[in-house]
Amino acid sequence: MTATQNKVIPEVQTFLNTPIPLFINGDWHTPKDKATFIAENPATGNSLATVYEAKENEVNMAVDAAERAFHDSEWSRMSAYDRSKLMFRLADLMERDFEIIAQLDSLDNGKPVDEVRESDLPNAIENLRYFAGWTTKLTGQTIPIDTEFFNYTRHEPVGVVGQIIPWNFPIMMGLWKIAPAIATGCTVVLKPAEQTPVSALYLGKLIKESGFPDGVINIINGFGKEAGHYLVNHQKVNKIAFTGSTATGQQIMKQAADTMKRVTLELGGKSPNIILEDADLEKAVPGVFNGIMVNQGEVCCAGSRVFIPEKIFDQVVKKLKNFADNTVLGMGIEEGTTMGPLVSQKQYDTVTAYIEKGLNEGATMVTGGTKDGEGYFVKPTIFTDVNKEMSIVKEEIFGPVAVLIPYSEVDEVVDMANDTEYGLAAGVWTQNLKNAHIVANKLKAGTVWINCYNLTNAATPFGGYKQSGFGREMGSYALENYTEVKSVWVNLD
Ligand code: ADP
Repeated sequence: MTATQNKVIPEVQTFLNTPIPLFINGDWHTPKDKATFIAENPATGNSLATVYEAKENEVNMAVDAAERAFHDSEWSRMSAYDRSKLMFRLADLMERDFEIIAQLDSLDNGKPVDEVRESDLPNAIENLRYFAGWTTKLTGQTIPIDTEFFNYTRHEPVGVVGQIIPWNFPIMMGLWKIAPAIATGCTVVLKPAEQTPVSALYLGKLIKESGFPDGVINIINGFGKEAGHYLVNHQKVNKIAFTGSTATGQQIMKQAADTMKRVTLELGGKSPNIILEDADLEKAVPGVFNGIMVNQGEVCCAGSRVFIPEKIFDQVVKKLKNFADNTVLGMGIEEGTTMGPLVSQKQYDTVTAYIEKGLNEGATMVTGGTKDGEGYFVKPTIFTDVNKEMSIVKEEIFGPVAVLIPYSEVDEVVDMANDTEYGLAAGVWTQNLKNAHIVANKLKAGTVWINCYNLTNAATPFGGYKQSGFGREMGSYALENYTEVKSVWVNLD
């Protein structure tokens, strides 16, 4: 046994040892054609687990199960309070098996296990409990109209929801999606990303143990072009909630038009992180560094364009380089690792191709590049001498690559920050709160962080402007994604 295997607790090893089936209609299901695929450990490129693959047949089964559960089951007749109790129970079980889930996500995605322990998993559990609280508060309105009529609204669940999630925060993305949907009484078919299927399947175990009626939450692993495609095109799916790349989001939106599905999309970004001249650099520099490098830069809201006042540019570049050079790359499961590998060979190829492009287009690489040895490791990479025509400045890289851009005036930097097709998030660092609010108001982004970055909370909405998508996850806003408003008229005459 290697040192790393020693760190993996036996429950994790046991779960990964045998091929993992799909979770359909409250039970474990092996596809008819027995198709499987490999979930890789990106730190080694070796197989982590074998997972059964859902294709059209399994998508149909899962949607049928979700439809039955929605229309005619204990779930459809359940009180809102009982729904919330199931959600609280699931949250308790996730807490009980906290370390198992943390290790599964770290092994499957590559990220440092401490990040899952401190952020992803508590956030996922918080979402369940937050939305469990909403089940009993989904009230409509009574509307005063002509005296002989009484009018009121009901907020009804939209029905069967297909949820397609990415690989960068597997368990957290799963719960961001599942929690508001089941709080409103919808039923779910969740398709995790093919790169990171294992923690969602473990969740299936806990969903069963919590006592959810069969078919309320179904988890089908498979590929976007097969399982994802059939889910998006299925007649009986009323809504698609998607998080992923803008290109895939655009495709999904077009396909969903044929069946007039409700669609919400949380897509890419090229978020600006702006240091103003009066920022406290002791806080701003590590904040900006983590703003792009956390989770290997595989974050949709990563602050990948850093704007720095000309006067302090060289000083900030030096400090950021210092943070980069002190990063400890390693296996996520190893103690002391501060940056893991990228998720896959494909992602590694994409990110390294951008680094090449940056160099070819004339940018200066202050530090970074690839790391020798096995696994998909890319070091924290920092570019200067960039201009707005370069692909590393315009396009989402989804890796640990920052471009540093000097500016002279605050008005100028706001225009530069907004000069992107994306609008997911932005950051401002300053000790002058008046300036902070002025800049925050002008930024075209769904989230603006002032003197902080990358924070999310179950009670706070998150989502994009422009090509970063539409619809908001979390907070009361997320409930709108999963409900239809019915207006009821009563003639009192
Ligand atoms: P990436 O290219 O980084 O894998 P994607 O946006 O393509 O990012 O993937 C995010 C999620 O979307 C994954 O679960 C993936 O399987 C799914 N997906 C990819 N293509 C499609 C598609 N055409 N239809 C439905 N889902 C898709």
